[in-house]
Amino acid sequence: MLKSFKYLFFPEYCSGCDILLHPNEKSICIKCLHNIPYTDFHLHKNNLLTDLFYERLDVKHATSLCYFNKGNVVQKIIHNLKFHKHRKTAEILGEILAYKLKKTPFYNNISFIVPIPLHNKRQIERGYNQSEMFAKGISNILQIPLDTELLFRNKYSKPQTLINYTERIENVENIFLTNNKLDYSNKTILLVDDVVTSGATLVSAGNTIIKNTNANILVATIAFVI
Ligand SMILES: [Zn+2]
Repeated sequence: MLKSFKYLFFPEYCSGCDILLHPNEKSICIKCLHNIPYTDFHLHKNNLLTDLFYERLDVKHATSLCYFNKGNVVQKIIHNLKFHKHRKTAEILGEILAYKLKKTPFYNNISFIVPIPLHNKRQIERGYNQSEMFAKGISNILQIPLDTELLFRNKYSKPQTLINYTERIENVENIFLTNNKLDYSNKTILLVDDVVTSGATLVSAGNTIIKNTNANILVATIAFVI
């Protein structure tokens, strides 16, 4: 009854295809959910994402929920995450990934879930941090604390999408700092981001965390660009 009331006055639209959602659907319609190309990286010790970090970041494991491809449903969903009305979608995607992570031994020892922070300026522009919402979804299901205090940015960098590969690495070098209020030594941190392309942002953040805390790093992202 409450659901129908909400549906009548606050209709929700699919983040993947913009159709009006059925009251039982959450953020993404059944058809789009079915069309998402999942990577299943979480099942494989070595995968395209662990390969991307090879000799750049010492990850214990790394996974992405799905493939991002020009024109596919994931591209549309990621585009829609920029808009505040779709903020719940990132959380739902986190929940979907978390159920997958429960089925693999690589993710059974996480102490904290740490999203890549946005710079304050960009967070104000956008209204929220989609990586944080994705991390919240993972945290909801795994019942592991979301930690938004450890990692922060010390300078404003250009959006990574506007520059080439070499510039991307230079653009995010030394942009992160940590705030070690807790003892992270030998703990396992799940570092979370939205989309991984060159991996430069995660490499920079992950290496800063390892250097400053001696924690182990796992990585999870919503999408992997192919
Ligand atoms: Zn849809």
